[in-house]
This record gives sequence, C-alpha cells and structure tokens, in this order.
Amino acid sequence: MVNEFGGQVPKTMEEMLSIPGAARKTANVVLGTGYGIASGIVVDTHVSRISQRLDLTKNTDPVKIEQDLVKIIPQDRWILFSHQMILHGRALCMARAPECIRCDLNSLCYAPDKRAQTAP
Ligand code: SF4
Repeated sequence: MVNEFGGQVPKTMEEMLSIPGAARKTANVVLGTGYGIASGIVVDTHVSRISQRLDLTKNTDPVKIEQDLVKIIPQDRWILFSHQMILHGRALCMARAPECIRCDLNSLCYAPDKRAQTAP
C-alpha cells in the first residue's frame, strides 16, 4: 500500500482489489464504512444467510449474492443495508437458532429453517 498508493487506503474498488488479500467484502467495508462510498453491498456470512432466508437471492456465492442484491436495493441504501443485515444476523436471525418469534420480518419470511418458537 505504501509503494502502490503512497500510504493511503485507495478509494476505488479496482484499486482495493489490487491489494493482496483484499476481496470485494473487505473493499466494500472499507469504501462504504471508511469513506462513505457505496461501491457495492458487503456480503458476509450474515448477509448471505439472511438474503437466502428472505428469498432475496437463490445464490450461495457471495459475488453472485451481491449482484442480486444491488439489483433490488437502492444504491443510497447499500451501506446501511449491509450494517442492518449484519446486526439482524447477530441479534435475531442467527444461523442455528433464529428467534423468529421476535422478528419484525416474520410475516414476510418463508425460510425453511424458520422457527415457530424460541428455545425454552
Ligand atoms: S423470521 Fe426468522 S428466519 Fe426469517 S428473517 Fe426473521 S429471524 Fe430470520
């Protein structure tokens, strides 16, 4: 980064992806949260899982999920959407035991692993 970008974190997706070890997820986090640039949607494990549960995508590959999401989420919401999905995944829509009974999206959700009740 020092040699290629003068010690500055780059501000474009193309430049970010030229950094060894930086893929789209990292690039979207840095550009979105660091610079406020909506270059795409962060797709981590939470965003992947919830997007599938809410039928926003049929894909499992993060790049393809992102391609599906950017078609249906307005660009001015891309940065916030990622944060909201990640928070939702941590708070309620966990991988193994989602707390569907407490979820505001319950009536919209047809996930096969939806749970009718929380564990006792
Ligand atoms: S209803 Fe359950 S599975 Fe569906 S989004 Fe809410 S917490 Fe996740």
